[in-house]
Amino acid sequence: MKEHFFGEKCGIFGVYGEGLEASRLTYFGLFALQHRGQESSGIASSDGKRINVFKDMGLVSHVYNEKALKSLPGHMAVGHNRYSTSKSSSIEHAQPVTGNHKFLHKLMSSFKDKYALVLAHNGNLPSTTKLEKFFDDRKIKTEEFNDSELMAEAIRYYMLKGAKLEDALVESYPLFTGVFSLLIMTKDKIAAVRDKCGIRPFSLGKLDGGYVFSSETCALDTVNAYYVKDVAPGEMVIADKDGLYCYQIENGDQKLDIFEFVYFARPDSILLGKRVSEVRRNFGRRLAREHHIEGDVIVPVPDSATYAAEGYSEMSGIPLRHGLIKNRYIHRTFIQPGQRLRERDVELKLNPIPEVLSGKRVVVIDDSIVRGTTSQRIVNMLRGKGASEVYILISSPPYRFPDWYGIDTPYQRRLIAATRNNEEIREFIGADYLGYLSYQGLIDATGLPETVFSTSCFSGIYPIDIGEKTGEIEFRELVRFS
Ligand code: 5GP
Ligand code: MG
Repeated sequence: MKEHFFGEKCGIFGVYGEGLEASRLTYFGLFALQHRGQESSGIASSDGKRINVFKDMGLVSHVYNEKALKSLPGHMAVGHNRYSTSKSSSIEHAQPVTGNHKFLHKLMSSFKDKYALVLAHNGNLPSTTKLEKFFDDRKIKTEEFNDSELMAEAIRYYMLKGAKLEDALVESYPLFTGVFSLLIMTKDKIAAVRDKCGIRPFSLGKLDGGYVFSSETCALDTVNAYYVKDVAPGEMVIADKDGLYCYQIENGDQKLDIFEFVYFARPDSILLGKRVSEVRRNFGRRLAREHHIEGDVIVPVPDSATYAAEGYSEMSGIPLRHGLIKNRYIHRTFIQPGQRLRERDVELKLNPIPEVLSGKRVVVIDDSIVRGTTSQRIVNMLRGKGASEVYILISSPPYRFPDWYGIDTPYQRRLIAATRNNEEIREFIGADYLGYLSYQGLIDATGLPETVFSTSCFSGIYPIDIGEKTGEIEFRELVRFS
């Protein structure tokens, strides 16, 4: 059995533009997308003759220095921030992937053969059966390849047969069964491709006559590019010396992962025309309508719940106070392998302010409960600082189904809401009250129709076939849209 890596919740960024210092712009872009992945980072650049790649473990600010950027010349670049589970935590999985140049596991590599290509992937293929069969049928060994590398190899396969990048992509696209926002770069072209449901975000911008691709619009702002459009679901966009070429490979059916709005995306990004921070504020307003609580103070769990807490405070009239302070230099909790480390992480990350909490009925707002660890720790912490009551409100519905579309979530039995009802969860975390935003409330608060979203983690409905992973869903019966 080949090991499949999920948890590839990543950020990608690319630049094509004559006269632009593409790798430096990509570095700035990746810096703005740091929240999408903190495990490793990589940039590949091309000057039209040679592709250079630099990647390493760690944060963008640690990975690159002036020397590294100087080693990445050219007017084209694609970059990737990787986020992953502990299992697959190593430089071998850092992206952009270089396909059959995989043996080049060095920090830096460089190649100029005719078929050289690199690929950066945000998303995950829950099933790679089709790709594996494709290579098996052709007696091509791909044993060591992960889903992203298999895609790169399939594209290269057609290029070796003489196809241009865009034709090779159209040929290999049907083999890609899953979720992908992709940037592929050859020596003289960049292609952007998105799965038919556009599960992960992907935007296109313009800068000084050149083009910029980014997972989120916040990074377009950073490099001063202006937003043009999204790479549409099922679409391929090619940037090269002739300009921009858009081609719809497959009819799209937009199903953005709604969890991007709940937690993942940066608040200053725009998704489907909506500013993420404002949608989160609406989640909070709606939460206040659904759960009326007599509290003294609203305390957000920073940073992801800040806007929902503001909305709740506005609507309820209860003052918002920052009673939990986050150490900004600690990365997202899930980044730590193993449950024990993760538990300590909550305390390393959040420090309570006793003056805000002592003797108060505290309404804590968080964006989601996954395993329940964070909420449990927070309740303990606040009681320890003298809170008289602790109410927990969550600005999304119970998280019951695992994700195979590129967000790092554990096996279903570890998702607390998969096996426990709300009262049991409340008891587990030790709160005086626990309230979730309803499913309908979540949809309504986005101001968009339900049909444009994938809501799999809440509803168990997976718009893109999850193939053999279906067997890993053990619990369905708790599903109720209340
Ligand atoms: P729990 O301790 O319940 O497993 O985690 C819930 C907390 O993790 C919430 O505060 C939420 O903001 C955060 N969270 C939710 N989804 C993710 C995710 O995919 N990655 C990371 N790092 N944190 C998440
Ligand atoms: Mg959080």
